[in-house]
Amino acid sequence: MEKVKEIISRLEKGFPNKLELNFSSPLELLVAVILSTQTTDKKVNELTAGLFRKYKTCEDYLKVPLEELEKDISSVNYYRNKAKFIKSACQRIVEEFDGKVPNNIKDLTSLPGVGRKSANMILYNAFGKNEGIAIDTHVARVSQRLGLTREEKPENIEKDLMEQTPKDQWGKLSNLLILLGRYICTAKKPKHHECPLYDLCPSKEL
Ligand code: SF4
Repeated sequence: MEKVKEIISRLEKGFPNKLELNFSSPLELLVAVILSTQTTDKKVNELTAGLFRKYKTCEDYLKVPLEELEKDISSVNYYRNKAKFIKSACQRIVEEFDGKVPNNIKDLTSLPGVGRKSANMILYNAFGKNEGIAIDTHVARVSQRLGLTREEKPENIEKDLMEQTPKDQWGKLSNLLILLGRYICTAKKPKHHECPLYDLCPSKEL
């Protein structure tokens, strides 16, 4: 636990504890997360700035034809699939969850287009709940480099990180490692000498 606590304490001096996706409600975060697959957060934010003015509730997504939603999100990759996911997730939220985005992992992962990573991101960032640790490509790579896990599969990496991190810090750890991975511990040419974790890291000579 001590190593991860130290990692968090150093990272939070340089990075904010939040996602780079813009949202102002659980539904907006759900849609942004679905749109962000294989798309940069910057691109998603450019799109959602206008999209969220038009679509404010699940009913708003349901009342337009699929083709209209596809057109409205066509600036992102895989927009056809994403439009289907958004519509069917909204349908389920209205039918099963009284129009509210569910706030537990079981119900969230039952929504189309929402896996465990997305559910963990939504739970922490929209509801302040730590039910797991979101493992995206950055979190996976950085955790391996820092020697926090030797696992490859996200669910195993998540287990390793959960064992080494106080529960109330799970979401924060994920948010901070995403930013470290995006800006410093990049996949190619990591900037070891700019890294606040340099002396803690077994991979600095990579
Ligand atoms: S020292 Fe290098 S490999 Fe280790 S976390 Fe920092 S950037 Fe990544």
